Amino acid sequence: MPVPKRKRSRARRDKRFANKGLKIKAFTQCANCQESIMPHQACTACGHYKGRKVVSTKADRAVKRAETSKAKEAHKGSAKQAIDAQSSE
Ligand SMILES: [Zn+2]
Repeated sequence: MPVPKRKRSRARRDKRFANKGLKIKAFTQCANCQESIMPHQACTACGHYKGRKVVSTKADRAVKRAETSKAKEAHKGSAKQAIDAQSSE
């Protein structure tokens, strides 16, 4: 089995990692909300991509959840009213 003839010095080894610094990434702006976004990716703030809504955001889900719970509450309330009406007769 081939084996390296001698140990690589720390200097030689570390030179390999010297060029692995952080790179500045390219950013574009969302056409809908002007948020900085990664190119070719949907906006995380508003969920738009190429002028079209493609992803539901956290805020959207919160709104939907509130609507659902409100509807459920209303349904419960109407059911209780019906039961109350029946028992009073
Ligand atoms: Zn956006």
